[in-house]
Amino acid sequence: MKTTVEERMRYRLLRLGKKGPVRRGLAVTGMFFCVALFHVVHYLRDNRKRLAMVMMSLVLFAAYASFSFPIFSDNEERMSDVQPHFLISDESVSLVQEEEVSMEELEDLEEEFLDGFEVNRMQEGTEEEQFNLEDILSYRMEQGENGAAASDPPKQPDSGTAAFSKDDWRLILVNKQHPIPEDYSFTLATIKGSKQCDERIIDDLLAMMQAANEDGINLLIMSPYRSDARQEWLFEKKINLYMGRGLSYMDAYKLSSQIVMVPDSSEHQIGLALDIVCDTYQSLTEGFGDTQAGIWLEEHCAEFGFIVRYPKGKEYITGVEYEPWHFRYVGVEAAGVIMDREITLEEFVEELE
Ligand SMILES: [Zn+2]
Repeated sequence: MKTTVEERMRYRLLRLGKKGPVRRGLAVTGMFFCVALFHVVHYLRDNRKRLAMVMMSLVLFAAYASFSFPIFSDNEERMSDVQPHFLISDESVSLVQEEEVSMEELEDLEEEFLDGFEVNRMQEGTEEEQFNLEDILSYRMEQGENGAAASDPPKQPDSGTAAFSKDDWRLILVNKQHPIPEDYSFTLATIKGSKQCDERIIDDLLAMMQAANEDGINLLIMSPYRSDARQEWLFEKKINLYMGRGLSYMDAYKLSSQIVMVPDSSEHQIGLALDIVCDTYQSLTEGFGDTQAGIWLEEHCAEFGFIVRYPKGKEYITGVEYEPWHFRYVGVEAAGVIMDREITLEEFVEELE
């Protein structure tokens, strides 16, 4: 029996149709595409110009699609716009709002990173050079500086009665909301090696170390003055770490700013802050507050003009987690009031306004 192509097709379709509507639908669609493709290829073979145009369109479409792929546009634009000066443009904010990271996800990451950070900080701490009183004194003798102000009796705070001025260099408030003024200047002095701080606080610092020493506590100075560049480097390093773990720039920025001070908002950059630990506990962790040295410092730092800058329970004011190792120089009088009343520098300065 002789059959035409058309008849054979109809026959197969009917057989497929009997196997169910889905297969029939597939068969019809498949055939439709085959016929269409055949016509298109046939047509293009006869019209080379059209073929060239179709190929060009395909190439252009592919190129455009790759540029607009989220990974590329996201990071490049945001990094180049925002990173150099750590400005947050409206544009980058709206970009982030569109891209939703669930709060739970963020909290998990945060926890994980904070855990990791404790370790990082410990490592950073042990890498750094640390000097105890003896090291510093011998260095200063070599330099022809005075020894410790050991013979000076510690000044007694005159709490409450002293008149304070907002313009006093010792009371400058530096935090996220109050960046370092552009025209702020001070003279750096070397404590020892690469360790520097504002020259005006060295005598009181040494007197404090000396007093601790007499009570059998060997204090160690870590990261006093930090250059703008180093602060920026530290901050950038954290942001990159978090972005590498899948956070958007803004989320990484927010998280980093809870751990490393946003550049230009760190007291380390004005040489008035020091991280202090002791020979038996050398990591910058909360546990330092419970050590003999931590307790001694909290009790006596004000006598030498220093305060625990980020106390426990005041995180909502300072915006910084409890740091029993971070001491800020504010002068003996102000330190006495601040430590006595258990307030923060933020609260103290606000009262002056
Ligand atoms: Zn610090």
